Amino acid sequence: MVHYGHNMPQLALETPLYEIIGARAPLLRRLDKLGIRTVADLLWHFPVRYDDYSKIYKIAELEPGQQATIQATIEEMRVRHSFRRGMDIIEGVLADETGSIRAVWFNQAYLANTLKPGRVANFAGKVSTSEEGELYLSHPVHELIRPNGKTKMLRHTGRLVPIYPETRGLTSRWIRFIVQSIFKRNPKLEEWIPEAVLAEFDFPSIEDAIQRVHFPGEVEEAARAKLRFSFEELFLLQLFNIRQKSTLAAQRAPAIQADVERIKELLAKLPFELTPSQKKSLWEIAKDIERERPMNRLLQGDVGSGKTVVAAIAAIVAADHGLQTAFMAPTEILARQHFETMKKLFTSSMPAIGLLTGSSAIVFYEADVESKISKAEFKKKVESGEVKVVFGTHALIQKSVSFQRLGLVIIDEQHRFGVRQRAELLGNTHRKEKIIPHFLSMSATPIPRTLMLSVFGDLDLSLITELPAGRKPVETKIVSPIEREASYQFIRGEVANGRQVFVICPRIEPTEEETVTAGNKFQAQKKLELKSVKEEFERLSKTIFPDLRIAMLHGQMKGSEKESIMKQFAAREFDILVTTSVVEVGVDVPNATIMMIEGADRFGLAQLYQFRGRVGRGEHQSYCFLMADVMSESAHARLRAILEAHNGFELAERDLELRGPGQFFGEAQTGIPDIAMEALRNPELVQGSRTAALKILQEEPRLASHPQLRAKIESFSKKIHRE
Ligand code: ADP
Ligand code: MG
Repeated sequence: MVHYGHNMPQLALETPLYEIIGARAPLLRRLDKLGIRTVADLLWHFPVRYDDYSKIYKIAELEPGQQATIQATIEEMRVRHSFRRGMDIIEGVLADETGSIRAVWFNQAYLANTLKPGRVANFAGKVSTSEEGELYLSHPVHELIRPNGKTKMLRHTGRLVPIYPETRGLTSRWIRFIVQSIFKRNPKLEEWIPEAVLAEFDFPSIEDAIQRVHFPGEVEEAARAKLRFSFEELFLLQLFNIRQKSTLAAQRAPAIQADVERIKELLAKLPFELTPSQKKSLWEIAKDIERERPMNRLLQGDVGSGKTVVAAIAAIVAADHGLQTAFMAPTEILARQHFETMKKLFTSSMPAIGLLTGSSAIVFYEADVESKISKAEFKKKVESGEVKVVFGTHALIQKSVSFQRLGLVIIDEQHRFGVRQRAELLGNTHRKEKIIPHFLSMSATPIPRTLMLSVFGDLDLSLITELPAGRKPVETKIVSPIEREASYQFIRGEVANGRQVFVICPRIEPTEEETVTAGNKFQAQKKLELKSVKEEFERLSKTIFPDLRIAMLHGQMKGSEKESIMKQFAAREFDILVTTSVVEVGVDVPNATIMMIEGADRFGLAQLYQFRGRVGRGEHQSYCFLMADVMSESAHARLRAILEAHNGFELAERDLELRGPGQFFGEAQTGIPDIAMEALRNPELVQGSRTAALKILQEEPRLASHPQLRAKIESFSKKIHRE
């Protein structure tokens, strides 16, 4: 690589960009919009492709349609204003020893100040043909060649030129310019991947890699460098998982002996029999918590497959041993629902359980003995150990409750929970004994195998593979615009029969600020056509179904408001609920039989699959309408996958293939950086990173001779846990 200014002090990566380009540069705001604020941010803002301007052509060699660089003397430069087209047109004549060519720019009159006749410069751009059949360069970028022959390092011409993801007003040219000026100031790039690993995979050092990603000599060089960065993230992920697993294994948790007779007794009281895989999962969990080693398990099963029951039994078993359970959900609606499910199923055979929401607290002792109390009282009852199972959102339980003896943590749709987070949940008594709770995570998102191996490599897995007997499959249909009216008729019929309907929209507000990349008008257009909850609510209640009872629900509403609407809907006080994806996870309304999804192509397959799981939960035949107004053939094909898939896993694999892991998870928070997500598309790299991680930790479990690597894992794990 080219080394710049080695005598110069090194430039720290955390240096804010305003120190480089000046605090008043208008570019700063645009960079900020892209999340680029420091030197590191910019260096890690990678090009999306490279234009090949590496060869310098003679003017006589130019071919129409070519992207080319020439080196030429400016013979003429003219600026004129075209009133017809409402713009400045700048025309130059460029010449070398083989001939001359016209160059044309629009609205860049200032070019005339630099590109003065007599000067020599490189010009890179597209060779176009005018109406008269004459060749010209359209909008070429340029770099002046100094008369003394001492030319600055070329950034824009005469080489492979990086093209960055752009936002309006922030061109690749500018980004190249800033990146170059950073390189000139000798940025402090520290290697942290052990040399042996770099050698084994033939990856460039970090300095070379960054340099080559931005200014490669050839395309393969850039690809290799990018691969190093993908590997980095996977490697960290694997190291993190393996270490997490062994750290946990070294911790102690309370051994909770599950009495088989007691479990049988609990099961006998249920109004149904557990499915085989519910039983198997329950058994796996019971075995886990019997040990002093903390359980770290993911319970996975489709929406409605009955995860809550299984988890609730574990909580009761823990309570039998005097241990408490924290049962956490991503939203208050879901927390309440888990609470209600447990109440309904185990009315008289369980300890006191409680629900804590932002505004209130309830303790349930047994049928008809329930009390609404203040949050302060509630916390006291948890601290004293009187309430054995506490339901609430993650935030609520983690922040404001301290337990007497916490033995089990159950979390819905959040897959990670570190040793430190577990410890934080504990009351003081436990902390002294250095005991941490068992951990059970529940997920309705089917996770493909590659992701399970990498992203969730530290978790053991229990699968609920079948739905309870008697559930009818949901009839699913892609609905075209001409069938829309008919689907409304159908809804009317279902409502007349006493059933209820969900209508899901991709957005809350009618319009949204455009954040699309410059030039992508099509996308902007599409965005405007997207249905919003507010508009759709208006339209349905005023025009389509003025006689029906319609409610709306979205994430901008207050928790208590959402909750009361959900409650009313469950109590059949509304016929139709128009909502955003807030109903995605977990909401249980067995009387709802239609799930209508507007802008279906805007959602991921796994997400659509979960929406559909909201219906078909009762005795009635249910339906899912995928509304497809403006849709490309590929979007259509994607939706057809839903109709064809046999189970969630199949869909998840498809979704992963089609959209990549970053999109795949949607809103489910993994804390995994995007770049690692993308790298997961490369199974070989996943495997390689795993082998390398295992090897290095085997040789040196504490990584004593790799302090940089250790530091890197630390900060990675902080990111994952969002501490
Ligand atoms: P999940 O959390 O997996 O989405 P739930 O635990 O909320 O599913 O269960 C959905 C509904 O199915 C609940 O009303 C529950 O009581 C019921 N249920 C659970 N297991 C069974 C079963 N084996 N047979 C019949 N109904 C069941
Ligand atoms: Mg659920």
